[in-house]
Amino acid sequence: MNCVALAGGVGGAKFADGLARAIGAESLTVIVNTGDDFELYGLHISPDLDTVMYTLAGIANPDTGWGIAGDTWRNFEMLERYGVAPWFRLGDCDLATHLLRSEMLADGQPLSAVTRELCRRLGVAPRVTPMSDDRVRTVVETEVGLLPFQEYFVKHHWQPAVQAILFEGSEEAEPAPGMLRALETADTIVICPSNPYLSIDPILSLRGVRDVLLNATAPIIAVTPIIAGEAVKGPAAKLMRELGKEPSAVEVARHYADFVNGFVLDERDVALADQIKAMGIGVFVADTLMKSVDDRAHLACDVVSFADRLRPEKLGGCRLNRADGSSR
Ligand code: GDP
Repeated sequence: MNCVALAGGVGGAKFADGLARAIGAESLTVIVNTGDDFELYGLHISPDLDTVMYTLAGIANPDTGWGIAGDTWRNFEMLERYGVAPWFRLGDCDLATHLLRSEMLADGQPLSAVTRELCRRLGVAPRVTPMSDDRVRTVVETEVGLLPFQEYFVKHHWQPAVQAILFEGSEEAEPAPGMLRALETADTIVICPSNPYLSIDPILSLRGVRDVLLNATAPIIAVTPIIAGEAVKGPAAKLMRELGKEPSAVEVARHYADFVNGFVLDERDVALADQIKAMGIGVFVADTLMKSVDDRAHLACDVVSFADRLRPEKLGGCRLNRADGSSR
């Protein structure tokens, strides 16, 4: 099996981890948003890549979803002693990642190679790739002016109302090496339950990506990040309201309607299934809330089986032995 997942940070990372457990790490490629990347204290920080990497390495902080479990904050306290009031917190262990990544980038290695190397050293088995080696920066047009993504998200706690979202540099940026080919040759493509506008759209904005998805032979499945009209975490629903859209899974399905074959709807939203089917999209209903590692794997297993039902030749794929004895 050869599955490619498009992912942002927390929602994407949890689902990618489920996929790795369900189908085997060697069968999975995760393409990660880098529109959130930024520079701080001279370091290159890739928040979504880090979240995916730490989650797949089993070292992510389970309470926040980002950062490293058990991390300490001595460097942060020292910065405060210097009179700096950092609005972006970097844990001591987390800092090591940014130091190494920044050094390798300064040595001239592309971000995709740096990511491969960091993953290798952390024992992350799935292929994890940034969406591009080139600089793309998400900028949010808000009621208080244009804000670089991290200022909007972290400094302003995503409170200013959003008017538009821009991906600076995406027109010139090349998709990461091998990324379009990975999508062309995948037998399953999954859009993770990530923020459609802030995490997935930057990937879709890159040259060639939409065309590859429109022409893909593999089933393309999107998993809803919206449950009962709300985001599980973060600004997705608030953002939808501000952009004049109804915050619902139907709107997410519509956002992807050009290229998805299947949509995974949460069981709390089962009443919306017909609206999505009316767009010509197959619907699978599941409990999509991933509270535990088992939830991730079971959801991923169901998604892979759903994809299998949407193609003429069955691949099987999910290796999980479910506690309930079913082999999906
Ligand atoms: P970010 O870059 O860290 O914001 O990460 P993502 O864009 O990957 O994830 C944020 C999105 O994931 C939000 O819209 C959440 O609603 C969604 N999300 C997070 N956890 C879950 C979950 O357990 N189930 C579902 N269905 N969505 C989730």
